[in-house]
Amino acid sequence: MNWKTQNSELIKQRPFFDDLIKRKFVFAPTAEIYGGVAGLFDYGPLGATIKQNFINIWRKHFVMEEDFLEVPTTTLTPQIVFKHPGHEDRFNDFMVKDNQTKETFRADHLLESILEQKINNKQFSEQERVVYEEMLRSIPNFQSSADFEKLFEKLDVRNPTHDKNKLRGVYPFNLMFSTKIGPMGDQLAYFRPETAQSIFVNFKRLLEFKNGKLPFGASCIGNAYRNEIAPRNGLLRVREFEMAEIEYFIDPEETSFSKFNEVSSLIIPLLGRDEQTDGKDIVLMSLDDAVKKNRIQGEVLAYYIGRTWLFALAIGLKSDHLRFRQHCKGEMAHYARDCWDLEVLSSFGWIECVGLADRSAYDLNAHSKGSDEKLVASRIFETPQEREQIIIEFNRASIGKTFRTSSKAVMEFLDSMSIIEAKDLKDQMCKNGKATVLGCEITKEMVPKLEIEKVMIQEEKYTPYVIEPSFGIGRLIYCLLEQSFRMREDVQRTYFYFTPAIAPYKIVFLSLINKKELVDQVISLENEYRKAGYPCKSDYGSSAIGKRYARTDELGIPFGVTVDFQTLEDKTVTLRDLISTKQIRIPINQLKTCIDDAINEKTTFIELSKIYKEVKINPNDKSSS
Ligand code: AMP
Repeated sequence: MNWKTQNSELIKQRPFFDDLIKRKFVFAPTAEIYGGVAGLFDYGPLGATIKQNFINIWRKHFVMEEDFLEVPTTTLTPQIVFKHPGHEDRFNDFMVKDNQTKETFRADHLLESILEQKINNKQFSEQERVVYEEMLRSIPNFQSSADFEKLFEKLDVRNPTHDKNKLRGVYPFNLMFSTKIGPMGDQLAYFRPETAQSIFVNFKRLLEFKNGKLPFGASCIGNAYRNEIAPRNGLLRVREFEMAEIEYFIDPEETSFSKFNEVSSLIIPLLGRDEQTDGKDIVLMSLDDAVKKNRIQGEVLAYYIGRTWLFALAIGLKSDHLRFRQHCKGEMAHYARDCWDLEVLSSFGWIECVGLADRSAYDLNAHSKGSDEKLVASRIFETPQEREQIIIEFNRASIGKTFRTSSKAVMEFLDSMSIIEAKDLKDQMCKNGKATVLGCEITKEMVPKLEIEKVMIQEEKYTPYVIEPSFGIGRLIYCLLEQSFRMREDVQRTYFYFTPAIAPYKIVFLSLINKKELVDQVISLENEYRKAGYPCKSDYGSSAIGKRYARTDELGIPFGVTVDFQTLEDKTVTLRDLISTKQIRIPINQLKTCIDDAINEKTTFIELSKIYKEVKINPNDKSSS
């Protein structure tokens, strides 16, 4: 099945899916009784447990197995943290407003939907549609209002709901929610739009904790806030959401990564830049090949792509509903060396659920400059190494007097220039007696000494580079819920099928009928299993057993244990499989081992049914299906 067919299957099931989500309170609009607010959702008990299980798997897969340092930091963040890395200026989406109706639109989404309609409209010629496809592909590269404005003009974009109103005047809109701290409100703060910066500002302590040794990773799980222009599609685009982010700090001079061979043979669906430019579909490629062919920049980034792939499969996402899409050149921040998104197929199309970026030394450099703390690591050499070193003296008073407002930037440059830049400066000075730095003319009087010396060193300071995998928990959960949704064709019953680790409840205990002897046994089993730490439920109501099975299926409970009259005689129960609805009979004293093995994926119901006798269900007895 190709992805377009899979997408239309998901679209077809959406009304039934939405109904189950609502009825079982998986999640619901915040303050729904007051009409709700766009982009804000509360998780219900079922959704909350699924989220908690998701986080438990994430912690085991990443924090524990990779030995990350987890830091649960505050969501309320002083303004300065987002000033230096540039969020205040650039954490923007572009929007456009209909001045008559006051409606607002996200510029890229509006253009995308207009172009998609044109591409699918057979009234346009093949040639015209190719042009529209090219326009669509160019949108992620737009960097300024002017880029958007040009296409708005070309397509003569109008308000889609009031189509006479021309939409022009695209402008950047900062997505960060601001607030003020303290009774006088004199300290500006932001509700963080990502958790990443809180890791960077703690870098020095984290490095100390690791005894100065790189590489190492730190992670943060917590809420982030973005004032989205057009929140939509359930949990996919909201204004408050939970993220799980990793910053993996590396030495940029280390080109190989010892753990890469653990994932290098994985075959992964990649939609690289080339495929996107040529309008092609994914290629399947081993991570090893992808690194060797320079498709993915470096073994560490490729390693985390592999680990993310394995995580996605571990929570139960389907491999043919996943792909890694590389960012096109203009789509990436200027400092990023390479970026890939894990995209998951949903009823709303391909959705970016995890961003994996090589952010170079950008953030640590920005915070070093902003805070005057040196956020650097050391390379210690076993034998002394020869290096070139800059010896510079400059006349601060003279630079300050001559360049005034630009003097700080000039002095910062002279303080932190690279060997290549210093050599170039020295050459210019020798040839012309002066040199140009950041557009300012530097004289010998301003820089009386500039030497490049050879020295032997045992230790060298450097700013680490960072690889950042950034998981949107709500998006992944929404896609997982859609993919876990099932319908029993014959009886039109809907249910969820989760992997046992994600399932909110693992077992339901039922009595065949509502009779005291059976109910007592159910209650005692439920108590015993709860005490042993199994999330479980019981159902001994008076409705027919079939109806009660259907109720528990809607909660995605993988195992149904039924106490019947035979239980009282021989201490056996029936164990029902959610998917096949088949049942086997098991002695109570062997039940825990069977369930443990199934939860830990050491066995399956099919395997168990080879050991234990299947219970034949009378097809006419609707109550037992
Ligand atoms: P970004 O920092 O924009 O790359 O986002 C990192 C991850 O956060 C994305 O891959 C999404 O999974 C998630 N995310 C970003 N924005 C939203 C949003 N408005 N609603 C839900 N999840 C989001």
